Amino acid sequence: SGMRENLSYERFGVAVRELAQTIADDGYEPDVVLSIARGGVFVAGGLAYALDCKNIHLVNVEFYTGVGTTLEMPVMLAPVPNAIDFTDKKVLIADDVADTGKTLKLVRDFCLDAVAEVRSAVVYEKTQSLVKCEYVWKRTDEWINFPWSVQPPVVKRSGQVLDA
Ligand code: 5GP
Repeated sequence: SGMRENLSYERFGVAVRELAQTIADDGYEPDVVLSIARGGVFVAGGLAYALDCKNIHLVNVEFYTGVGTTLEMPVMLAPVPNAIDFTDKKVLIADDVADTGKTLKLVRDFCLDAVAEVRSAVVYEKTQSLVKCEYVWKRTDEWINFPWSVQPPVVKRSGQVLDA
């Protein structure tokens, strides 16, 4: 338990515009933004608007813990996007954070064979990440609280009586 990096929705809005500006300044014009759900969906939406890219795809990645082992690796959940859709396309992978980088590596390797070009954009990248993203808004080694996951899911409020 160390320091926390707290990202608000307001600051996220600034981050995603600045990240897009870096990508535009670099001259990269993606045909497709491929988001890694769920956190990458927020990033992909913001980047796609800011970069005027109308094509967003999504891949669900979840960590699978091996039975009786400490081995942990991410897996793509069905439906896996059809790599044919990306043939000859310039792809921008979007995620909220590259921590170990295993999630990004999985998706990047999936793209590498099929696509014309693949680059990655993240809001945060940590030092240990085995994938070095082309576009990073901020580097930190703190645990990040994202605005979409810092609060628990809402619960149904039943049986509430409103009295006058
Ligand atoms: P990876 O270790 O594969 O790079 O990251 C896998 C996933 O773990 C991320 O997409 C994110 O959902 C979660 N994660 C990693 N580091 C953090 C963090 O600092 N804060 C939060 N909220 N999630 C994180």
